[in-house]
Amino acid sequence: MTTQLETSQALSDLLRLHREATDKQGLVDVATRKRRLQVAIDLLVDHHQALCAAMDADFGGRPAGFSLMNDVLGSLTSLKHARDNLEQWVVEDKRSVFAPYDQLGAEAWVQYKPKGTVGIIGTWNAPLFTLFSPLASALAAGNRAVLKPSEVVPATAELLAKLIGQYFDPMDVAIITGGVEIGQAFAGMPFDHLVFTGSTQVGKKIMRAAAEHLVPVTLELGGKSPVVIGESADIAEAARRLAVAKGMNGGQLCISPDLIYVPVMAREAFLQAFREAYSQLYPQVENNPDFVSVVNEQHMARLDGYLAEAREEGAEIIHCPDVEVSQQGRKRPLSVVVNPPLLSAIMQEEIFGPAVVVLTYSDIKHVVEEINSGERPLALYYFGEDEAEQSYVLEHTLSGGVTLNDALMHAAMEDAPFGGVGASGMGHYHGREGFLEFSHARTVFRGAPVDPRGEWGLLPPFPEGFAEA
Ligand code: NAD
Repeated sequence: MTTQLETSQALSDLLRLHREATDKQGLVDVATRKRRLQVAIDLLVDHHQALCAAMDADFGGRPAGFSLMNDVLGSLTSLKHARDNLEQWVVEDKRSVFAPYDQLGAEAWVQYKPKGTVGIIGTWNAPLFTLFSPLASALAAGNRAVLKPSEVVPATAELLAKLIGQYFDPMDVAIITGGVEIGQAFAGMPFDHLVFTGSTQVGKKIMRAAAEHLVPVTLELGGKSPVVIGESADIAEAARRLAVAKGMNGGQLCISPDLIYVPVMAREAFLQAFREAYSQLYPQVENNPDFVSVVNEQHMARLDGYLAEAREEGAEIIHCPDVEVSQQGRKRPLSVVVNPPLLSAIMQEEIFGPAVVVLTYSDIKHVVEEINSGERPLALYYFGEDEAEQSYVLEHTLSGGVTLNDALMHAAMEDAPFGGVGASGMGHYHGREGFLEFSHARTVFRGAPVDPRGEWGLLPPFPEGFAEA
């Protein structure tokens, strides 16, 4: 096993070589950027089956169909979008020069320069997507990269290490595997930019470590994503779409609906429709290949703790489908916890698993106040046809992104930025915003052949009385 010290040494040597190559390279042309992106595309296309099998093994049950959609196609979409659009993104921007310098022939423009080497730390819940999607933006911007997958998915990490080694020159993209200690060494290296996807708690440590070398960070963190169902919503359709979203990856998605606010009058209609919709998607738990398992025993114990506390404090808990939470195996029915106390763990912590909270309300303004009393969420969802109410919710809240009348979908928009705000993160990837995130926007000014400053009295010796003029 590689030690923290050995990792630091190996990374330090690699980063030195990267830096030397970056300083020598000159322009990283479009063809080079496209070639690097294409290597990542080929890797995923050639080995998608083995990668899906590795994720299935790591989760102890994750359907290939889901892994293909979420991780393989999600990553390919980012890589192909970058490959097919970067030509427009790299164009130098001509900027206006203040008069009369422009008339004298001065010019200014902005160059989008690669920053150098981008370090990318990924999570277990979307083991390919959280590495390859930011990689797409980093490579489009002309950078080199070093990846660090999560140790919670060891088979996937090991396979990725092998494939990255086979497909990429380590001077373009390299990979380091290991657990928290290796992550700590990684976060302390003098990268030119660091991307971290993970929990808010670890995100703070990453930012502290990066500060040592003033490394800019993109933090893709988590939080409790709320859903507001307005009175004008089609309750059955909202319940169906939320059941689809909540079932994805067994609720282990950073933007999974976490708290669902339902008008008090619609409580029974919503619960019934939600239970029916979820049970239709997943009619049974045991031996159901469509269920994604809770990733490990530690996360099972965490979820059990939330549910036991909510039950003790008198919250109603409904299971979808309506079976007992099995004590064996990590495939579990979805637990719907209705109106738990505000200070209970399930109301305070990110659920990140097969459970969801339903809260009833009678005044939507109080819902908005409650959302605003917590940390800024990564995602916010609103269902309803009342445009004034929709505007009210949009205008009075701040979140990483928003989906209206559906869930999760804004994060799939490759041509728009994805990222958090406040405790849910900072910075973006996807699309042109991702390209800009990993580029240094360098202003270049070219002086005019004539320098009029002396004639204007702007150079010393200054004319007498100049300051009073
Ligand atoms: P985590 O924070 O435990 O770990 C993430 C990564 O950081 C892993 O690779 C891990 O090895 C590494 N790490 C852990 N401790 C470290 C330390 N002290 N120093 C350096 N590296 C360290 O997160 P997780 O459990 O893998 O993922 C779940 C969290 O990620 C959830 O909060 C979820 O919301 C969030 N998430 C966010 C996004 C997003 O795009 N915003 C996407 C997926 C997951």
